[in-house]
Amino acid sequence: MRLDKYISNSTDLTRSEVKRMIRHGIVEVDNEIVTNAAQHIVPSSEVTVDGAVILASGPRYFMLNKPAGVVSVTKDKQHPTALSLIHEHRSEELQIAGRLDIDTTGLLLITSDGQWNHRVTSPRTECAKVYAVTLADPIEHDYSAKLSQGVFLKNEKQRCLPASMEKIDSHCLTLTISEGKYHQVKRMFAALGNQVVALHRFKVGNIQLDNNLAEGDYRPLTKQEVNSVV
Ligand code: URA
Repeated sequence: MRLDKYISNSTDLTRSEVKRMIRHGIVEVDNEIVTNAAQHIVPSSEVTVDGAVILASGPRYFMLNKPAGVVSVTKDKQHPTALSLIHEHRSEELQIAGRLDIDTTGLLLITSDGQWNHRVTSPRTECAKVYAVTLADPIEHDYSAKLSQGVFLKNEKQRCLPASMEKIDSHCLTLTISEGKYHQVKRMFAALGNQVVALHRFKVGNIQLDNNLAEGDYRPLTKQEVNSVV
């Protein structure tokens, strides 16, 4: 790939801005100043602009520890969006893989890779989502059996896929589901005659929310985390 194309693809810079920078002698390839914008770049080349390494563009993957009050849509006039917390170039390419409600906290996956997004969210791939759920009323003894049979949600013709739960205390449990219908967890417990008062997602497939991420912080996924979604 040409040097100017490589840099503009990997940054917010336009091709003409990049050409100007190259002319000004601030672009280096493998520690040599390059003034020819058409110079060919190979995958092993190290390209720097003003000393900062420019990584090749490619699909990008992040985990965000979503705070309450943040919405999982691209644009919203009233509330901050999850994408506004991701300070990356070409942020318009990013999409949310599996939304969370405004009051739900925890693991939100964000990517520029549409196919990967589909694999995370499609019920066919059965990528498990694990939530910490707090209920208004005590957990009843038959919840586990009902959830594993698949509950009927209001206004849905088919049962949910089987879900599993582990009781933590009288009002708290962890719930594992493999689909992502609108307000699914809240509607599942409404169908059981209870109400969700707090909801936190901490795992999607084999990707666990990083304990080092404060609310509102994000980090790139590791290669292993990305490849764990099959
Ligand atoms: N189920 C819900 O009801 N809300 C969420 O945010 C996620 C799953």
